Amino acid sequence: MGQVQPLPTKSKLAIGNVIGFIVIHLVALTAIFLPEYTFSWSAVGVMLLLVWMTGSLGICLGFHRYLTHRSFDLPKWLANFFVLMGTLSMQASPITWVGQHRMHHANSDTDKDPYNASKGLWWSHLGWSFYKTHDFDDKRKLLEYTKDFSDDKFYQFLSNNMIPVQAMLGVVLYLLGGIPWVVWGIFVRLAVVYQQTMSVNSAAHKWGYKNFETDDRATNCWWVGLIAWGEGWHNNHHAFPKSARHGLRPWEFDSTWMVIRGLKALGLATNLQIAVMEPDGSGRYFSGKVTKAA
Ligand SMILES: [Zn+2]
Ligand SMILES: [Zn+2]
Repeated sequence: MGQVQPLPTKSKLAIGNVIGFIVIHLVALTAIFLPEYTFSWSAVGVMLLLVWMTGSLGICLGFHRYLTHRSFDLPKWLANFFVLMGTLSMQASPITWVGQHRMHHANSDTDKDPYNASKGLWWSHLGWSFYKTHDFDDKRKLLEYTKDFSDDKFYQFLSNNMIPVQAMLGVVLYLLGGIPWVVWGIFVRLAVVYQQTMSVNSAAHKWGYKNFETDDRATNCWWVGLIAWGEGWHNNHHAFPKSARHGLRPWEFDSTWMVIRGLKALGLATNLQIAVMEPDGSGRYFSGKVTKAA
């Protein structure tokens, strides 16, 4: 008889997360309903630039491919910049985000997975973040999962000052462009990046195809691949989690990989781990420099 695993301890409502989510979306909606006070084309441009900087560079490149999976090395100053960008997405501190994501990979789609897609689309998309569960939010456990960087002073600073850092960006945006830049650059931008990231945990564990047989629900979902900066090629990612490149077939466009490849060309990203697909459909890690073959 197999060993019976205990279920995660009881969850309780994370009231701060719920209120924060509602406030951010209510303020973001003023961009639609009160355009006379909150709209300008420059504000939309700032929002789009910051969506890319905090979503692709911050979450996908910084938090996910660099910090969680160590798919490549970066000079410390550049790593700090990307992790700062990720922190500005207000999804979680670097330590919590990475710790929970490592739990996700260790036990994908089970009760030990914070975003457990087996509990349905709503749960894996957003519902999970509205609850605190001892197994996923225990500080000691998160530190255990992030031993390789949790003693880093700058990451500790970001982890303890997520809201002040966001507020500083808000002040800068206000001084440069007034209320419209704050509404679009902070609130609309946060709402957009939330949806991009959350779609990876929900849609890319439900709809799409698989290139590789994995023992989880992760799929390659083309529209998540497009809106979430290449992270929607999620079956590839679960099969080869250390790969800096997620899109492996010619049509699997992976814009975050384009940036990493550019950093490699500049000599800034080194020791890249890259997966490749063979003509017969099998995959493997390609060790070495980024060449045509990769
Ligand atoms: Zn996943
Ligand atoms: Zn991952």
